[in-house]
Amino acid sequence: MRTTGYVWHERYSWHDTGTFAGIIAPGSTVQPFHNFESADSKSRFNSLVEVSSLIDHLVKVPARIATDEDILRIHTPRHLDFIKNQSELVVGDAGDGWSPFGHKGIEIARLAAGGTIAAVDAVLRGDVTNAYALVRPPGHHAERDMGMGYCIFANIPIAIEWARANHGIERIAVVDFDIHHGNGTQSIFADDPNVLTISLHQDRLFPQDSGYVTETGGSGAEGSALNVPLPAGTGNGAYAAAFERLVLPALRNFKPEAIFVASGFDASAVDPLGCMTLTATAYRQMTASLVTVADELCDGRLIMSHEGGYSPVYVPYCGLAVLEELCGFETGIPDPFEFSFGNSPAHALTQAQDDVLNVAENIARQMQLIVG
Ligand SMILES: [Zn+2]
Repeated sequence: MRTTGYVWHERYSWHDTGTFAGIIAPGSTVQPFHNFESADSKSRFNSLVEVSSLIDHLVKVPARIATDEDILRIHTPRHLDFIKNQSELVVGDAGDGWSPFGHKGIEIARLAAGGTIAAVDAVLRGDVTNAYALVRPPGHHAERDMGMGYCIFANIPIAIEWARANHGIERIAVVDFDIHHGNGTQSIFADDPNVLTISLHQDRLFPQDSGYVTETGGSGAEGSALNVPLPAGTGNGAYAAAFERLVLPALRNFKPEAIFVASGFDASAVDPLGCMTLTATAYRQMTASLVTVADELCDGRLIMSHEGGYSPVYVPYCGLAVLEELCGFETGIPDPFEFSFGNSPAHALTQAQDDVLNVAENIARQMQLIVG
């Protein structure tokens, strides 16, 4: 019987990304709006978890505050000091000029990293089989010395190093299906042969100069990174094929002691920041595959930490599908958007997508990321 831990804290919805016009600063002819990275998609995801009663089938795991020691296992003292100073301003920024946060925002960033720590702790203590940390701000773009792309601290890497320090595990895999490249996670562990980073993302979306299929790991860790940059427009079929041909074989070859997932829903068909066409069905299938492979390889240890996903109306249903697969309980609530996106011809694997997968497979074989 699987049990699933669930992390959510009201303060995640208080993370303040200010007045924006989607992804740009307003002004001149650009009318002020809000930042696409807003609380809505996450708080409404949590609302559906409660309204659907799925919460009754999950184990609530309290978030905790990540300490300086926790953060400094990954980030430079310069970055931590920078965030502390920015946090004293009315509006601070994580480092790239496009990642605003409000006064005392570091407290919520600590809670996001700490929420991911709490999730992995619950799994590794054996309190639960797997866990979902619905945290905010996200983390997968944050590098050791700089925040970027809405990310202040690298939530998953901080949780990985915490787990290594406190639970004696070493070999970890990270699967990132957020539409953006998991550049931060990849760069942090580039030279670490005991962390496999896998990222499926829209080709050259963000950051625009990373996530190439030729990025396969740094010095001494060749073959520890797998990138699958899929063309804009990709749907459920190509993601399923990428899992079958690349993600699952790479995990089986690597044999991790735990699997983390950077869980972003911005590859959904209605996301304002992406051009993919996934439905909740794709997220359900990817999660089901990960649950199966985690059962095979590491006693089901799967820790998902929330990243992007900017459709306030669709993210909750994509998230519900993921949580149902994690805990094995079906609420019976159908995807209300399925009628609109589910039958799109965009879900069939195209030749262009197949070509990308073939190139990625060839490189992965050369680097011994996959065998056979
Ligand atoms: Zn994203």
